[in-house]
Amino acid sequence: MSPANAKLNAFPVFMRIDGEAVAIVGNREEALAKARLLAQSSAALRIIADDADPDLLAFIAASGAVHVGAAYEAAHLQDVALVFAATGDKALDRRVAEDARRLGIPVNAVDQPDVCDFFTPALVNRAPVAIAIGTEGAGPVLAQMLRVRIDRMLPPSLGRLAALAASFRAAAEKLPKGNRRRRFWSDFFAGAPAKAIEAGDHAQAHGAALELLSADAPAGGHIALVGAGPGAEDLLTLRAHRLLMEADAIVYDALVPEAIVAMGRRDAERLPVGKRKGCHSKSQEEINALLIELGQAGKRVVRLKSGDPLVFGRACEEMAALREAGIAYEVVPGVTAAFAAAADFELPLTLRGVSSSMVFTTGHDLKGNSLPDWAKLAISGATVAVYMGRSVAAEVAGRLIEAGLSPDTAVAVVENASLGTRRRFHGTLADLPSLEERADLTGPVMTIIGDAVAGGNFERSEPLAAHKHEGAASAVAEGVHP
Ligand code: SAH
Repeated sequence: MSPANAKLNAFPVFMRIDGEAVAIVGNREEALAKARLLAQSSAALRIIADDADPDLLAFIAASGAVHVGAAYEAAHLQDVALVFAATGDKALDRRVAEDARRLGIPVNAVDQPDVCDFFTPALVNRAPVAIAIGTEGAGPVLAQMLRVRIDRMLPPSLGRLAALAASFRAAAEKLPKGNRRRRFWSDFFAGAPAKAIEAGDHAQAHGAALELLSADAPAGGHIALVGAGPGAEDLLTLRAHRLLMEADAIVYDALVPEAIVAMGRRDAERLPVGKRKGCHSKSQEEINALLIELGQAGKRVVRLKSGDPLVFGRACEEMAALREAGIAYEVVPGVTAAFAAAADFELPLTLRGVSSSMVFTTGHDLKGNSLPDWAKLAISGATVAVYMGRSVAAEVAGRLIEAGLSPDTAVAVVENASLGTRRRFHGTLADLPSLEERADLTGPVMTIIGDAVAGGNFERSEPLAAHKHEGAASAVAEGVHP
């Protein structure tokens, strides 16, 4: 499901083509399309066309391609690095492909993926920067759409910036390896040199890059306490995404999905610190110490917490430790599990005339003798979101009913909110204790209680109490629930 698990059947590489010849066989638009694509490279084009149409002839004249004006034969492929069979005649294209293969030359045949050694990508060209988009032949339209989007994202000056970077490579090699050098490059590509190039001022860009080279070693590190959201990768904020891509180290909890951690740089340190069943996890003190150590080493750190970092995330202790150690930090909010759960049920957390306040709680504080304040709020109509509530479901329900909340109050429960693996349940407060018996719920579970919950959509959810009454049979049925 996550991109990290999907395997490519075609692996993209950039082939050195400068000074090589490339053959394109065909007379019409298919050949012209390939010729136009290849003309973006410095390869020498050899177009084998015995009956070229006027557009192709015009292209050949304008581009300086070599025109072989004879009926195709294998000898025409002599000494080329790549072959494109684009005659519009499938049988002929196959013959070209067979010849190429016999000569040991990689070949592409238009619209015949089974005879292709390689596929041609949709191309975003900012030479020397190239972005090649491939779909393994599944969706040329998709590839073109992506190309347009990426093209729009990248400044036309990107190629000039990359060329300037190449001219600084040797000087940058003299910087100390690791942090200092990486910071030079990230400031180069995101800072003053990039801005000057974009503004068309090459001299200023050059000066700004020189300045970055001689700048003092960068100050201490920086820690971002970042909300990773409830699980779905695309519920991450843009700011979280940017910080992730810049981070030297990523410190993350068990609930943070691998796919989000994988958005970091490939060379970033990845440090899991959270509890996963049966695995070692670090104590809060050890995590504080780790963050301080990374900060003191001058690293840019993203500390990923599930949901929002300030909701049941022990962020306060980490921030206090960082303040004390004098390490700069910032907090980036995330979508908390309660919001994801509400969205999964399309249920209003506040509802005009019904509920105008909401409570985030764990339910664990119900274990004392006195009712906490939030129980009174629940009775006066607040919507209650219970984090970490599976193991205290009976306690929560019992105490709320005892305190006067109706046993008929609506309850919604979701495991793995926001994810494709989510499971939804609905019922009443009286049904809630059955949650504790469900050993089949192994993911994180969010419970929402209140009259506003009744405004949700329960079409795709199972009754909470069914499990209790129907026993094993329903557990099997639940196993195949999406
Ligand atoms: N900071 C997090 C909460 C951490 S406490 C946030 O803002 O969401 C961990 C609890 O959050 C879990 O026990 C569960 O109750 C809830 N939770 C986190 N992710 C969840 C998810 N995808 N679905 C349901 N509940 C989730």
